[in-house]
Amino acid sequence: MFNFSNMSIRKKLVLMQVFTTALVLIIMMIVFIASDIKEYKLRKVDSMMSIAQVLGTNSISVLQFQDQAAALEMISQLHKVSPEIMGAEITNNRGQVFARYPEAGDPEFSIAAEMKENSLFRNNHLLVKYPIVSGNENLGSIHLIVRLTELQKIIRSTFRLAIFLLLLSVGFAFLVAFFIQSYVSGRLLKLVGTMKKVVRTGEYNTPIEDEGNDEIATLIQVYNRLMERIKENEKKKDEFIGIASHELKTPLTTVKGYIEMLKMVETEDPKKSFVESAFKSILKLEELVKDLLDVSKIESGQLQLEMEDFDMGQLIAETVESVQMISATHLIILNNLPTRQIVFGDRQRIEQVLTNILSNAIKYSPGENEVIVNIERTDHELTVSIRDFGIGIPVDEQTLIFERFYRTKGSSVHISGFGLGLYICKDIVSRHNGKIWIESANKGSFFKFSLPVK
Ligand code: ADP
Repeated sequence: MFNFSNMSIRKKLVLMQVFTTALVLIIMMIVFIASDIKEYKLRKVDSMMSIAQVLGTNSISVLQFQDQAAALEMISQLHKVSPEIMGAEITNNRGQVFARYPEAGDPEFSIAAEMKENSLFRNNHLLVKYPIVSGNENLGSIHLIVRLTELQKIIRSTFRLAIFLLLLSVGFAFLVAFFIQSYVSGRLLKLVGTMKKVVRTGEYNTPIEDEGNDEIATLIQVYNRLMERIKENEKKKDEFIGIASHELKTPLTTVKGYIEMLKMVETEDPKKSFVESAFKSILKLEELVKDLLDVSKIESGQLQLEMEDFDMGQLIAETVESVQMISATHLIILNNLPTRQIVFGDRQRIEQVLTNILSNAIKYSPGENEVIVNIERTDHELTVSIRDFGIGIPVDEQTLIFERFYRTKGSSVHISGFGLGLYICKDIVSRHNGKIWIESANKGSFFKFSLPVK
């Protein structure tokens, strides 16, 4: 259905312009046709009054001499003078018909005789009444019935012309609107498109160039300034993350060392369990600091990869095993593991990717007991897919979770995490010329990543 508010700005602008043009034209044409009709009527009254005047003068003697035959002869010839005259009559001063053409009469004659004014437009007819006066003596009057055939023609042809002009002008208005609006809406649409892209990709470094000097230009300038601010804030955040993670690393290593020593010394509860809790917390903190350091390195382009040839099949088997060791709740099922799949890359970093996705699969499927790992080999690629049956990821958040610090709305409340792992994974995989993505699943999540193999 036609819904103006849902239309694109481009269509709205065109429609408004075409509608305004059509409205103005219709009003102008109504005025134009009305004045044409009025002018025609005035002309008709003038010419008929002149004929009636001549008739009146000629009728004086006819009435004085009661020459009915001459009167009839005179009025019967009138349609030769003007074919529009349908009928004429001469009445005497008592209002009796002296001569009438056509003789059968016309009901309009009685109306003409009763008229107070000299002319009257009625049912497509003009009625004219003219007095026959000799000196001061009123001898009677002349009545004419004029059919306005020409008026119909004028209305019809003007109407046709008006419709033609209307269509022509609306067509022109549409073309002009189409080209003008593309300048106005094109810039707005560009702004909207860029903003959508920024929201989708998280790339704030997307300024828009515009040379205008109007409100849209102001809007674009405001957008550009906002993007600059966001960029500056991002930069400050990156710097802070870099400094904080570096500063935290050294004391954390020292504390970890002391706690490890205490672990060896304290063998009796409750001190032993206190130390173990402290050690677990330190490990978590260490994970966070490592992730922060990685993020900082990625942002400054300093994440070094130590490239070598390694067997991807072996790495997958080892990683699955080590993640399985620390998970008592889930069974990790590994399907079609190939032997000797040589990948040229950073073994440790790829292990980090695998560990992160596997740990997530376990972490985000509480209450479930299975994670399935599948490996597919094509000509040049090896694709690892990791499937869980947990809380899943809404479609609109599936690209966002690869942004730093992003956590899905559903997960962030109950399950702890920092939203950094997948961001790091994505960077590592793409620097190996691979890709990482999510496929839709009925239940849970379905992560995939592929790497080129030799
Ligand atoms: P973290 O797990 O520390 O929050 P990640 O970068 O590894 O950070 O993951 C980012 C977000 O993606 C998580 O917070 C979570 O919302 C979502 N996510 C990742 N893996 C899964 C999964 N297997 N199932 C559901 N949500 C997931």
